[in-house]
Amino acid sequence: MLDNHERIGTKLIPPLAQIPMAKSSSWLDHHMPEMLWAVLLTGTLNRIQYLNCFREIAAICREWFLRIEAAKNSELENKSGAAHNFTVIVDHIKLAEVSDEEFNKFLSVVLAHPMGCVALRPLLLLDCLPGYDRWRHALQVEPSNDDWSILARSVGGVIDHQSEASTDIRWFKLILPIISGRMRFPESEAERLDELRLFPDKGDMRSVRPFIRSGEMVLRRNPPSPWVEAFWTLAMNKTGCVDPSKDDGYTFSDTEINSTALYAARDAVAERFHSNASPLRIDPRLDSAFGLTLYGLSILEEIGMHRMQTRIVGAIALRALAEVCITLRYLAHIDSPSMWHSYRVYGAGQAKLAFLKLQQIQGDLPTFIDEDAIHGIANEDVWQEFLNIDVGHWANSNLRKLASECGAKETYDRYYDWSSSYIHGNWAAVRDTNFVTCHNALHRLHRIPRIAHRSLHTVEPDCVELVNEVISTLENLYPSAEPIPRLSLRPLQGTADAG
Ligand SMILES: [Zn+2]
Repeated sequence: MLDNHERIGTKLIPPLAQIPMAKSSSWLDHHMPEMLWAVLLTGTLNRIQYLNCFREIAAICREWFLRIEAAKNSELENKSGAAHNFTVIVDHIKLAEVSDEEFNKFLSVVLAHPMGCVALRPLLLLDCLPGYDRWRHALQVEPSNDDWSILARSVGGVIDHQSEASTDIRWFKLILPIISGRMRFPESEAERLDELRLFPDKGDMRSVRPFIRSGEMVLRRNPPSPWVEAFWTLAMNKTGCVDPSKDDGYTFSDTEINSTALYAARDAVAERFHSNASPLRIDPRLDSAFGLTLYGLSILEEIGMHRMQTRIVGAIALRALAEVCITLRYLAHIDSPSMWHSYRVYGAGQAKLAFLKLQQIQGDLPTFIDEDAIHGIANEDVWQEFLNIDVGHWANSNLRKLASECGAKETYDRYYDWSSSYIHGNWAAVRDTNFVTCHNALHRLHRIPRIAHRSLHTVEPDCVELVNEVISTLENLYPSAEPIPRLSLRPLQGTADAG
């Protein structure tokens, strides 16, 4: 929860990041490739077959690590931490170091299986592999382009460090130092040792599997082997992206906004304005309250009319509506002539500022600028020669504070923060809408551009709720026996494809 974070300056630090000297270690990026031979077995053989291979290999390779001078030295190592020696891994670095005889003994276990050679053949695509020539000589086959698919499929099964295949490989890494006497457990852990020995047939896997994974963490090369980067580079260069969005086009859903209710509400708002018309030449309370409501209704109308409810612009519109809603609630909460005035003068001052800046623009004006309209607003209440420009905020505050003060903090929290991402074009919104995760496992879940930007969840129910809140606020300011109709959604009729 947010409350669990520690605030340091402008940053909120989560509990795990507060642990001093903590280091992270990536299974996928740095340690999985060292076990590629095992990964390929999990991708090609069934589980019983590959676990049998792992067991047999563990029994054979145990000798590589067996400690002759047992107890005494091991105690010493335990004290120095050297007992968790990363050389107790049958990984590609180790396989490149052992003698030909030892290597062949290891390999004979896999090759005894009818699918063993097929499973390992993709290794021959990787000339960066430690001991590549020995692998090539031992397997005596030519790799084909299809082997990239076998490799990708196998890696796909271990991308998640907690997957069944990943945990099985990590069990194999852990069992070797145990059976070679390098990793020792107290008597009280006899049951746990039995569960590891008989994995996956003994004990509660909800406890055994996490134990394996945390145990394996200490059996990782540090720093990671340099060849691993070369492996990922090769995989990226030799294989293409798999775009899961390539058949997606733009689809536009019909609006769910009940247009009859929308226009009835607009009519009623206009009618109520007229019935409250004031003899004052300028009535900031009347103009602002009704104006903000009409503005909210217009935004909602545009969302529906242009079917923007699942588009980026829809999220931007939601953000605008949230601000309209909070602004009106705050003005109604304070409800003082000076605050209504402040809101209005600030807006007029912004028009004056924009107008004066436009005078300095060289060449053509931006097309969206309506110079006459801006000049008109800047001079409507008083001549702009007498109008102050406020370069701060109209209430000398910010929207979050306004929301807290007028009891609209929940509206702020529900609608404002995430929708703001879209208006600012921050990374989350950019990632969310225009990238998709490549489905080639050898590309490590990187992002590729979408053919068409992603449809978002509809903003219509949220926008309707906000506009209804705006109407309620208006009704409290200008009550009447006849209520203003509220907006509603109608059942979805269907979708249309824009091609
Ligand atoms: Zn890719």
